[in-house]
Amino acid sequence: MTAAAGRPAVAKPFDLARIRAEFPILAEPVRGGRLAYLDNGATTQKPEAVLRAMDFYYRHQNANVHRATHDLAERATLAYEGARDRIARYLGAAREEIVFTRGTTEAINLVAYSYLLPRLRQGDEILLTGMEHHSNIVPWQLIAAQAGAKVVAAPLNDAGELDVAAWRALINARTRLAAVVHVSNTLGTLNPVGTLIGHAHAHGIPVLVDGAQAIAHLAVDVKALDVDFYACSAHKAYGPTGFGTLYAKREHLEAMRPWHGGGDMIRTVSFEGSTWNDVPYKFEAGTPDMAGAIGFAAALDYIEAQGLPAIAAHEHALLEEGTARLAEVPGLRLIGTAAQKGGILSFVMDCAHPQDIGTVLDQAGVAVRTGHHCTMPLMQRFGIPATVRASLGMYNGSDDLRQLAQALHKVRSLFR
Ligand code: PLP
Repeated sequence: MTAAAGRPAVAKPFDLARIRAEFPILAEPVRGGRLAYLDNGATTQKPEAVLRAMDFYYRHQNANVHRATHDLAERATLAYEGARDRIARYLGAAREEIVFTRGTTEAINLVAYSYLLPRLRQGDEILLTGMEHHSNIVPWQLIAAQAGAKVVAAPLNDAGELDVAAWRALINARTRLAAVVHVSNTLGTLNPVGTLIGHAHAHGIPVLVDGAQAIAHLAVDVKALDVDFYACSAHKAYGPTGFGTLYAKREHLEAMRPWHGGGDMIRTVSFEGSTWNDVPYKFEAGTPDMAGAIGFAAALDYIEAQGLPAIAAHEHALLEEGTARLAEVPGLRLIGTAAQKGGILSFVMDCAHPQDIGTVLDQAGVAVRTGHHCTMPLMQRFGIPATVRASLGMYNGSDDLRQLAQALHKVRSLFR
């Protein structure tokens, strides 16, 4: 995959056997045999370094953050705020611009309700693309319905690439925000987000990028991209579930109203009214997920220790190998053949429904996702109900792809 922007990192030599040994679950037998874990688009597995960091937190640092003056509270606060620094550095942001959320979904909802809804008027438009995940569609539909605005989606070509000219043509005086996925979870398409942001900004339109499938696979520099909002989830980048981040330009965060109310997001409270904490805390009501933040930071350390360029090169080679192997399976059709593509292989077969294919693959120890992948409009675009999706991570190898291909030939012989 092509990197959007690179930063130097001191990385270990890329050693697949060593990396695999650092993910304990990969040694777990499934259905009595070897696991080929190819469901990284849904969630990634966690390395020892992440498990250890979270375990260490609960054993040696756990207390509530920001409040108490005792030693443990100080340790917890230092570790938690240190994680914010780490995540900010990974994305090329300032620490005040990193809001902790439960994941990409919550980050997008925060922008929808706190930033856009108060600015949205009857007849306004929110510009999406035809390949968005439901979490980058439904929040916009919900606020559009409240404001009498509408959601507009730009079309894709048959390779699953965004029609950039059509996307540009949809921009008009009523467009209030554009939201676009960085890497499509279903097609693997890598969108030219830098170009799109440039076009949108030329019309004064802010852009949200859904980075759920990007941050573990390519270097993201929010300042170089000049993106207004960037949403991501820890669990798709070798970190824990239920944790993520919204990057937002400071000027936007300052102008946004709070969303969730509660402890820590206030400066003062009286029955006459309340005043708000500084950003980003204004958006972090209640006791946060300290271990989640620490686990996410450890995951980003782990990624950088392997080196994003080496990870990207490895995954790209696997993508090419996987594409060639799937081409040898009779009656198999790839969905998503963009020129710029991440490690996602979505396909259908003429002999069996994706659900049945998934069941045969599972019996062979191959973990893939089947279904609409939370992209129902995309399924409609391609005239299919579902696909089988094999999605790659840094610990995958040729053996996983061989196991997948063998199982697909078996599907062929079973359902012919
Ligand atoms: N956007 C994309 C492209 C995704 O792949 C996903 C998850 O599959 C999401 C958003 C939602 O992420 P989360 O469920 O972690 O909030």
